[in-house]
Amino acid sequence: MEIKITLGDITKVPADAIVNAANPTLLGGGGVDGAIHEAAGPELMAECRTLGGCDTGDAKITKAYRLPAEYVIHTPGPVWRGGDDCEEELLADCYKSCLKLASEHRCRHVTFPSISTGLFRFPLSKAAPIAIAAVKDFCAESPEFDCIEFICFDEKTKKAYETALEV
Ligand code: ADP
Repeated sequence: MEIKITLGDITKVPADAIVNAANPTLLGGGGVDGAIHEAAGPELMAECRTLGGCDTGDAKITKAYRLPAEYVIHTPGPVWRGGDDCEEELLADCYKSCLKLASEHRCRHVTFPSISTGLFRFPLSKAAPIAIAAVKDFCAESPEFDCIEFICFDEKTKKAYETALEV
């Protein structure tokens, strides 16, 4: 199993499952969520409307429609409120919930954005090591994945994940 860090747009990279940094309504938002819905087409929103939302740290799966993937896994990350509101545990839960669903659907290549570090303001220097540790922990128990890939939208994010992976 390989953990890869790539600079790019998550809607353009083929995978078995693409993870969406959603919000609890699952009814769309800005950032990567907006880009994923834009690229998938309106059928994705129609399916999301049937799901009844999703708790922070949990995840729900849909088809990927026009995206280059089989599935989209939607996970609402925690909004950063200073660190005393279980934000760190909830962020780790997001990665684990997504990988559990991906595993149940026999996905081998999963792409993640940097959950919560955009509009939800989770500090990147804290989020990247939590993300890498959560993926490593999960995959130590479930070695069926070929590649877990973090698709970073800017150099600063890519650098933070590379640093976390090297430690
Ligand atoms: P959150 O609300 O969870 O913070 P955001 O979408 O605001 O989610 O930001 C999460 C990360 O996703 C940020 O690093 C942002 O730059 C990045 N991002 C935005 N658009 C894309 C995209 N098309 N592909 C990959 N990452 C993206």
